[in-house]
Amino acid sequence: MAIYLDNAATTKPAEEVVTTITECLTEHYGNPSSLHKIGLDAELIMTQARKNLAQAIGDEPNTILFTSGATESSNLAIRGAGECYGKRKKHIVTSAVEHASVKSTIDSLEEQGFTVTRIFPDQNGEFQADDFINAVNENTFLVSMMMVENETGRILPVKDVFRAVKRKYPDVILHCDAVQAFMKFPVKANELKADLISMSAHKIHGAKGTGALYIRKGIRLKPIITGGKQERAIRAGTESVPLIAGFGKAVEIMQPTIQERFTKMQELKKELLSMLANMEDITINSSEKGTPYIVNFSVKGIRSEIMLHFLESKEIYVSSGSACSKGKQSGVLDAYKIPDTLADCAIRVSFSEETTIHDLRILAEAIHEGQKSLIHKK
Ligand code: PLP
Repeated sequence: MAIYLDNAATTKPAEEVVTTITECLTEHYGNPSSLHKIGLDAELIMTQARKNLAQAIGDEPNTILFTSGATESSNLAIRGAGECYGKRKKHIVTSAVEHASVKSTIDSLEEQGFTVTRIFPDQNGEFQADDFINAVNENTFLVSMMMVENETGRILPVKDVFRAVKRKYPDVILHCDAVQAFMKFPVKANELKADLISMSAHKIHGAKGTGALYIRKGIRLKPIITGGKQERAIRAGTESVPLIAGFGKAVEIMQPTIQERFTKMQELKKELLSMLANMEDITINSSEKGTPYIVNFSVKGIRSEIMLHFLESKEIYVSSGSACSKGKQSGVLDAYKIPDTLADCAIRVSFSEETTIHDLRILAEAIHEGQKSLIHKK
């Protein structure tokens, strides 16, 4: 049986999610903007999904806007805020380890004349809230930082930063990419003091192709997609009702088990770390304080892709630890000062509720076997 350990890349849709999506496609196929009963039926389904997400994030349903995924959510958040709040103030504070969807968007604003301060982790590979807080000044209009970094699983001090910045500079817009945290940790907009939060369905056993942006009441965003008046005229285009319904269902299923799953993941992470500690030539790239859902390590002397395909031949699916898109290094491991020789050999293992300690044992044995058979073939 295949062992799927690449849940930070995407998760298997839950059975209930698949049923919900199928029912929507076959029975509730109306356009939610249509005025007749079949359209209304679709709208009601979307309303329920919106309520589920709003309840999870702890605010009103009209703060939730559906998008095609977190990439679009973060584009809308950053570009949209840039258009509305970045006319006079031109400075952005962000972390040096953001996902490409945030990084590239901020890079492109920089090319247009914005100035950007990128915060790096300290010598221990951890982020300090003060580094972000001290970087904010009178000219800052946006702070964008992720909650859980997706390659090594480090947790960024979003709450401490956002609270302090809101106190000192109440006008600064606070955006958080919560993709690897939502439904894994409690993510509450008001506790975080976030104005904008990006979320994705396919990381929480929903379907690919839908996500959401939390937009605090009163925050203005200039649309990046123009057209019809869907999603409060902020995001044009007929909503993908089936995928949104599936997203709502995934949240409904996952919400009650956040704590329980978290405890289970802690056990899995602990077990895997202790198995790896007993093996030779393994370096752990994750932090003990990081999310329990992700473990990143390097197998000395064996390039990530080689090990990845060796494990694949045994039906064990992991990710190369420093590749955000198809083999191209993202620079995240570099930000933690992990040398290239180790970054080139990094493997990311990410868990779901279905992962067992037995799976991890098979993984550890396979890596050991790989070390014996691959090292000579370098
Ligand atoms: N942000 C983070 C931290 C991610 O891990 C990902 C997916 O890999 C994204 C954003 C992009 O999400 P989506 O695939 O929904 O566009």
